[in-house]
This record gives sequence, structure tokens and C-alpha cells, in this order.
Amino acid sequence: MNELGMARSKDSAKEIKDLDKCGQCTKLITDRDNGLQCDLCDGWFHAGCQDVTDDDYKALNKLEVAVHWYCKTCNIRVQKVMGSVARLQNRMEKVEAGLQELKNELPAKIQEVCVQVVSSIRKELEG
Ligand SMILES: [Zn+2]
Ligand SMILES: [Zn+2]
Repeated sequence: MNELGMARSKDSAKEIKDLDKCGQCTKLITDRDNGLQCDLCDGWFHAGCQDVTDDDYKALNKLEVAVHWYCKTCNIRVQKVMGSVARLQNRMEKVEAGLQELKNELPAKIQEVCVQVVSSIRKELEG
């Protein structure tokens, strides 16, 4: 009986061991708190500290696959990166459109030049 009691208290001591501090409020995140780990900075946060509602937290935890969650700080960075990626994509699309235009115009241009060359050769031959 006594041994069982000892074991139990050991277990609860173990539980508090692997705790992380919230990157926002620097308080410990206990088992009772909704803890979220940022995918980018690996920091732990209270869901509440990051304006993550209980419903959102539950939804995040329901997904068995690796969820990409970014803390507020990283989210701003991610969005900035996404923004520049979108801008880059935009530019790429413009370049591609330009290339396509060129491709469409090229045969006509080549034809034009060929006709000119041929006619000038003819002229030279005749003249
Ligand atoms: Zn916190
Ligand atoms: Zn982060």
C-alpha cells in the first residue's frame, strides 16, 4: 500500500519535469494549459497567449498529421515571406507571359527575315 503511494507521487513529479515556458508570458505551460509549439522557432506558447481559442486549439489537436502552427511573431515573418513569394510568382508569370508573346511573334518575325533574305539573294542573283 505504502509503495503504491510512493510510486504515485513519483509519477506526478515526473509529469512536471518536461514543462516549457511560454514564449509570450514566460510562465510555465502545464498539462492543464493548452500548449502550442511554433513550427518555426520551436517555442511553446499558451494557446490563450496567442489568441488561439479553445475551439481552434481542439481543431488543431484533432488533426493527427503534423500541423504547422506559427506563433504571432513568426506568423508575421511567414506572411512577409509569403508576400515576397507571391510577388516573385507574379513577376515570374509576367516573364512567362512575355516569353509566350515572344514565342508567338517569333515565327512571323523569322518568316519576315527569311523573305527579306531570299528576295535580296534573288536580287543579287538577278542583278
Ligand atoms: Zn503564456
Ligand atoms: Zn515562432
